Order: sequence, then structure tokens, then C-alpha cells
Amino acid sequence: TSFTDYPLSGEIVRALDSLDYHKPTEVQAKVIPLILEKIDLVVKSQTGSGKTASYGIPICELVDWQENKPQAIVLTPTRELAVQVKEDIINIGRFKRVKASAIVGKQPFHIQKNELKQKMHVVVGTPGRVLDHIEKGTLVLDEVKYLVIDEADEMLNMGFIEQVEAIIEEMPKQRNTYLFSATLPDRVKTLSLNYMKTPVDIEI
Ligand code: AMP
Repeated sequence: TSFTDYPLSGEIVRALDSLDYHKPTEVQAKVIPLILEKIDLVVKSQTGSGKTASYGIPICELVDWQENKPQAIVLTPTRELAVQVKEDIINIGRFKRVKASAIVGKQPFHIQKNELKQKMHVVVGTPGRVLDHIEKGTLVLDEVKYLVIDEADEMLNMGFIEQVEAIIEEMPKQRNTYLFSATLPDRVKTLSLNYMKTPVDIEI
């Protein structure tokens, strides 16, 4: 398989080429077509498997460039991962000019607030700061169609699950949700049962 086997636009394929991504990894081969078909997913996979691009590629494909409000939210347990994911999405979406921002703690709120006033397709962030922006009205979720919960087991370990749930409660019900986790403890399974629409399970 190659990336040209998927219904991806030339702008995305060209970006993958420039990143030297020539063949989808195992998780990418399973996940990309299902996200493009708008199917909810619970994906059990490790870091290093190419999981970021497995959702980054189809999300960059699916966002409508014309829309100014955020269409995809990616939640991560750490600031470092949020920044990495944002960089990956900007790289994958560079020829489409996909706008992405990392909204994380320990950084000035007002700078993020100004960033969120600009055109923004994908917001990547840690739960506490994302919730903060939702509550203050600086992050508007009414155009959100895609939610990624990355490293869900780490969210649980770090005590962020309630915040993740509070964020989900504020989202449009008409959306797709993709949960990625190295392990699937019961509390993570409960989250998927409560907030996802008959997800397909993928194990790598
Ligand atoms: P991740 O599991 O998302 O942390 O990705 C692990 C590493 O694999 C990152 O350095 C990516 O840039 C790289 N990568 C992801 N997908 C591909 C691909 N299809 N071909 C080559 N490298 C890739």
C-alpha cells in the first residue's frame, strides 16, 4: 500500500512525500480509511507506531479550510506531546495551510486567547488549559466535528479523566471521536462506552 491508495488530496500526499513518509505504518493503514469514513475508533497502540499521523493525516484531509472556527480538538496528557502533535499536524497540512495551535498550561493565557481569535482548524491541548479556555469563552466548540483523545491511559494516570469528560460534555454530539491508548483499563473503556458511537476496536 501507499498513501495514494487512500482518497487523499494532492496537497496532503505532497506533504507526506516531503516528510519522507512513503508507506503507511500498520496503525496508519488501519486507521486512516476508517477516519475518512467517519467511524469512531478505539485504537490500542504504542508511541513510535506512527499513531500521530494515523489521525493527523485524515484530520488534515477532512478539515474545511474556509471555516475559521476549530473543527478538530486533540487532547493529550502532556504539554510536550501537545506541541509535538501540533508540529506534526502543521507539517502534514502545510500545503493545505492547515492552522493548528497548542493550548497548554504554564504558558500565557492571553497569547493563546489571541491565537484562538485567528483562523484555527485544529486545537491540540492539555485538558486543564483547554477547559479553562472553554469556560472563559475563548475556545468555541460549536464547529468541532472531530475529537482525538491521545494516550487516554496516561490521562487516567495523571488524574485528567474528569477534565476530559467535562470537555466532551461541552462538545457537539454530532462529531466523531477517536481514542488512542497503549492499555485499556476499565475507566478508559467506560469513557469510550459513554461518549462514543459504536466504536471499532483496533489493536496493533
Ligand atoms: P509516533 O508514533 O506518532 O510518535 O511516530 C513515530 C515516528 O515515526 C515519528 O518520528 C514520525 O515522524 C515517524 N513516521 C510516522 N509515520 C511515518 C511513515 N508513514 N513513514 C515514515 N515515518 C513515519
